[in-house]
Amino acid sequence: MYDVIVVGARCAGSPVAMLLARRGHRVLLVDRASFPSDTISTHYLQQSALLRLREWGLLDQLLATDCAPIRHMTLSYRDLIISGFAEPVDGLDFSMAPRRTVLDEILVRGAVAAGVEFRESFSVRELVWEDGRVAGLRGRDANDRFVEERATLVIGADGRNSIVANLAGAEFYKVVPPACFIYYSYFSGLEWDFHSRFGVGEQCAGWPTHDGLTVVAAMRRLDAFDEFRADIDGSLRTVFRNVAPELAEDLDAHGVQADRYYGIRYPDNYYRASYGPGWALVGDAGNHKDPVTGQGIADAFHGAELLAERVDQALSGQRPMEEALAEYQRLRDESTQTVFDLTTAVAELDFPPELVMVLSALPGNDRARRMFFGLLAGVVPAAEFFSPENIGAMLSTAAA
Ligand SMILES: Cc1cc2nc3c(=O)[nH]c(=O)nc-3n(C[C@H](O)[C@H](O)[C@H](O)COP(=O)(O)OP(=O)(O)OC[C@H]3O[C@@H](n4cnc5c(N)ncnc54)[C@H](O)[C@@H]3O)c2cc1C
Repeated sequence: MYDVIVVGARCAGSPVAMLLARRGHRVLLVDRASFPSDTISTHYLQQSALLRLREWGLLDQLLATDCAPIRHMTLSYRDLIISGFAEPVDGLDFSMAPRRTVLDEILVRGAVAAGVEFRESFSVRELVWEDGRVAGLRGRDANDRFVEERATLVIGADGRNSIVANLAGAEFYKVVPPACFIYYSYFSGLEWDFHSRFGVGEQCAGWPTHDGLTVVAAMRRLDAFDEFRADIDGSLRTVFRNVAPELAEDLDAHGVQADRYYGIRYPDNYYRASYGPGWALVGDAGNHKDPVTGQGIADAFHGAELLAERVDQALSGQRPMEEALAEYQRLRDESTQTVFDLTTAVAELDFPPELVMVLSALPGNDRARRMFFGLLAGVVPAAEFFSPENIGAMLSTAAA
């Protein structure tokens, strides 16, 4: 019998398991993948996520890999170009885009070092119900045996198609249909900092990762999916030519493709009820949005921390589990709502006029620009950046 079983061992699951084990709880962590393991993601990590890794004592392991630090960002929307970077936070003056084979392995090892029992190649198939509450799970282990494990709480950190959420009947309460798809690959020969460039109904992007490689990505609206994938390489280069011709030229002249293309039609953006009797959800399982604002991993880390703290309070008898989990969901929603709305608006690849007005005020205003990059770094709260006072001040400076 465990205190907690966590299903899914990546950005949400390993941290929540690690943080609970560090507080003395008996935790089983399972994942159907075996690690190191890749997953579809362009893996950009904001400073807020790096700060959490540092707090958890895991950042040095990431820095010991050859992942390139990023210290300059260029964003553009049609003719409007904004470049710069966030102010250093607690001495941290860079972001990074580590491959998931590297990042997720560090997270899993962090959980195991904290005392978590980890079983990979373990595929969860069923929840165990007892007296109307989840009491454990059943699944196939690495030896193809069907096994049952029991716990006070089962946490689904099992991503967008969460089996825990589906079997627990977790209801969706805010759903925004997807707007786009993405194709990306890895190229050598490019010396790009971070670029995220938006044109009319299309976006191109790129940033450095490990091994001297650059992630190179193109996004378009869903109605262009069939046309795009008929010639993925040609379509991606066309998006770059349309949106950022200087990057397109560099890509054609110096880029050497080092991996295959990965693509996905984005699923819905959503919030899902994230707790019930004997179960809870964290990470994409409970809240997912288009990756255009690069927040999924940082949000998964933050959610893991919020949840671990409250589950610990309940397991140590300080408060009822249901009350603790309700607070977790409320705090998660409060802290992600504004960026969720911003993300779903930006993902349309046709920004609302109010957003264009705000962005247009940035190039000539150093303070506002630094704050904007702080927002992208996850260290300036969205509610503060988009507060009527701040927006009013930015617009009047721009008018003056
Ligand atoms: C194309 C793309 C690009 C992205 N780019 C970025 C980016 O640049 N920056 C960013 O911050 N975010 C990005 N994201 C989002 C980010 O990848 C997710 O938010 C993040 O991976 C969520 O982590 P998670 O731990 O909740 O879920 P996941 O990473 O999905 O992990 C879920 C785990 O659960 C396991 N699992 C599932 N079902 C079972 C089962 N039945 N039994 C056992 N195990 C199971 C899976 O094997 C998996 O390991 C991107 C997403 C996509 C699709």
